[in-house]
Amino acid sequence: MKAKSLILATAVLAGMAAAPALAQQVNLYTARHYQTDEKLYTDFTKATGIKLNRKDANENEIIEMIRQEGANSPADLMITVDMGRIWKAEQAGILQPVKSAVLDKAVPAYLRDKDGMWFGFSARARVLVINKEKVKPGELKDYEDLAKPEWKGRVCARSGSHIYNLSLLSSMIATIGEDKAEAWARGVKENLARPPQGGDTDQIKAVFAGQCDVALSNSYYYVRLVNSDKAEDKAIVAKTQVVFPNQGNRGTHVNVSGGGLAKNAPNKESAIKFLEYLASDSAQIYFANGNNEWPVTEVPIDNKGLASLGNFKRDSVNVAELGRNQAKAQAIMDKVGWK
Ligand code: FE
Repeated sequence: MKAKSLILATAVLAGMAAAPALAQQVNLYTARHYQTDEKLYTDFTKATGIKLNRKDANENEIIEMIRQEGANSPADLMITVDMGRIWKAEQAGILQPVKSAVLDKAVPAYLRDKDGMWFGFSARARVLVINKEKVKPGELKDYEDLAKPEWKGRVCARSGSHIYNLSLLSSMIATIGEDKAEAWARGVKENLARPPQGGDTDQIKAVFAGQCDVALSNSYYYVRLVNSDKAEDKAIVAKTQVVFPNQGNRGTHVNVSGGGLAKNAPNKESAIKFLEYLASDSAQIYFANGNNEWPVTEVPIDNKGLASLGNFKRDSVNVAELGRNQAKAQAIMDKVGWK
């Protein structure tokens, strides 16, 4: 009996003694799946000695996992794309605020939560892709134009319930008000060349194929085609062009890839180090390039396709608004029947 408890005590002591020697680690739950992110993670470990354990899943699964794991969740960080989804995570109560002078300095205020619940680490724009043969320069200037009668049967867009369109509509609710935003959604729905189907790349391809003259797409889908070596992608790029809407007024709608600290993060300090690392120059370049997005800091990046789009004026409404207005946006989409 005595021997047994001695063994037990020794084991406990050994365990306790071993604890500080355990490598530091961070458990990252991510909905971003890009190959270049790999280098991002290995560089972090090389620089800090902190091991990164990654769990890949889609955003809904991640939110559900962290919620179900509750107080015992091993999750330290959640990374996802589009403010609408980050908002869902915040609403689900699975995040906690981070106070970091490094992050507050590096990430522009409109791309992060004022209380540090989440931070944007790369930016994408929701742009118009036009068929250059069908649309004259300057003919389409604003998102609002898509709802005008002259565009009847000429517009392609994915489902109105998709988070990218909900976030765009949310930004319009914030900037031009709910009534005008609703009228806009109704007008666009009326102007669709075909029932909403497929993703953003499918809309660009439909413009190329002549099914419509203009499509709504996130910028990185187009940049991916610009950077592609495939003949079919080059043909699409040759025939089409990106228009940044609303340059004469509020600017083009931008959204973020980003994330925050999990509510019960067991490795909080290391996790904050990783978030701060994501705002560093080298990480910004990988994080942005991984999905052909713009860095949120001023760091210059070498991305031919991205550079080809040039500079543009961004709508500087705080992206938090995109989250806050999601429910209103969905109600509008349902009401106007942009399914
Ligand atoms: Fe996407």
